[in-house]
Amino acid sequence: MQRYYAEQALLPDGWAEAVTIEVAPTGTIAAIVIGSPSSSAQRLAGPVIPGIPNLHSHAFQRAMAGLAEGGAGDFWEWRDLMYRFLARIGPEEVEAIAAQLYLEMLKAGYTAVGEFHYLHHAPDGQPYDDLTEMAHRVIAGARRVGMGMTLLPVLYAHGDFGGTPPGEGQKRFVNDPSQLLRMLDLLIRDYGDDHPQLRFGVAPHSLRAVTAEELAVLVAGAQVVDPMVPVHIHVAEQTREVEACLASRGARPVEWLLAEAPVDGRWCLVHATHMTPVETQALAGSDAVAGLCPTTEANLGDGLFPLGRYFTGGGKIGIGSDSHISVSPVEEMRWLEYGQRLVRRARGMFRMPDRSVGRSLLDAALAGGAQALGRPIGRLEMGCRADLLVLDAESPPLFGKSSDHLADAFVFAGNANPVRDVMVGGAWVVQEGRHGAEEAVYAAYRRALERLTA
Ligand SMILES: [Zn+2]
Repeated sequence: MQRYYAEQALLPDGWAEAVTIEVAPTGTIAAIVIGSPSSSAQRLAGPVIPGIPNLHSHAFQRAMAGLAEGGAGDFWEWRDLMYRFLARIGPEEVEAIAAQLYLEMLKAGYTAVGEFHYLHHAPDGQPYDDLTEMAHRVIAGARRVGMGMTLLPVLYAHGDFGGTPPGEGQKRFVNDPSQLLRMLDLLIRDYGDDHPQLRFGVAPHSLRAVTAEELAVLVAGAQVVDPMVPVHIHVAEQTREVEACLASRGARPVEWLLAEAPVDGRWCLVHATHMTPVETQALAGSDAVAGLCPTTEANLGDGLFPLGRYFTGGGKIGIGSDSHISVSPVEEMRWLEYGQRLVRRARGMFRMPDRSVGRSLLDAALAGGAQALGRPIGRLEMGCRADLLVLDAESPPLFGKSSDHLADAFVFAGNANPVRDVMVGGAWVVQEGRHGAEEAVYAAYRRALERLTA
């Protein structure tokens, strides 16, 4: 048993002082004890908060961050560029990019990732000899750096509404539901014994990419394998998608999904940007998590999530870095709030009772992210994974602050990263701002990028 002592820590029911966190050899928190530390406890160097879940990632897209800022253009043009870029990416590149990305995430304070994994096949569209080759590579990237993961193999069957055949740029993504369920079976067979750090779910890509029948077959099949299986889907990110859905299915995307699919607490609706007030209210009451990715949504010009109505309706949110134009939970939380302030011309939109705005954002992202990823994370509590961040109390924006002022300074006041040490599943992966594999992981990333840009 390892014991760690923090002068201040954010527990599920609020900030506490003089906190000892006991961690079992399995990487799970065995006890939280308040009071003077025992002599065997290691003193942590600053205030402690839970590690933050990142519920939405497409790892390979990190390598093209910054390559698509050439000027005008919309989401769909960005997507064409992304398709051209990934035509050259093979298994080794995927692993190297994922490891570098996840290492950067850990240093920024993300300790678990939901990998929405759709790059399945070889550049010619043929499956690799091992159907799950690419999934193995993103998992290897996570293991290389010690990141917790929920891997969500994506069902991408069609190019658009109405069962349109996939386009040339989409052939590496394509499976039918039975092949996708076979992937899920293979992955659970291969990694079942690593379940504390790794979980599997499924992701119907979007209502564009799966028919109603395919969605039903996928979700039912996955629930046979795992009754609590996480289900993630992109929805209502773009107005063109809303119009096409109305034309094809006679309902808006979120409206259709809530009426026709078994949406509940196992589901994460990613983006859900374009909703009517009725849809917003209904989603807020569904127990599902809205997966919000503010920096990507801003970068792609998607639109602004109706956070005010959703929040007052009791809706759950989590954050994701999606395209990885930014890899910082601080920036996601900050822009989630700032987007609303700019539109509403008022401050302090996202505020829970008895909590500051920064603390409310943090608590919501922790709880919603943990729920969406389907793992015991996001809480410093007995039975949860020992995923935690030690903040640098000496960083100027944090210095001299405690409790909710500390959370607010963390979310709003800094530009330098204030995450000092990071523990995932009881193991230190970042200490004093450095990851042990930093040089080797970056060297492999460089080699991969040199091949891609040659
Ligand atoms: Zn996405």
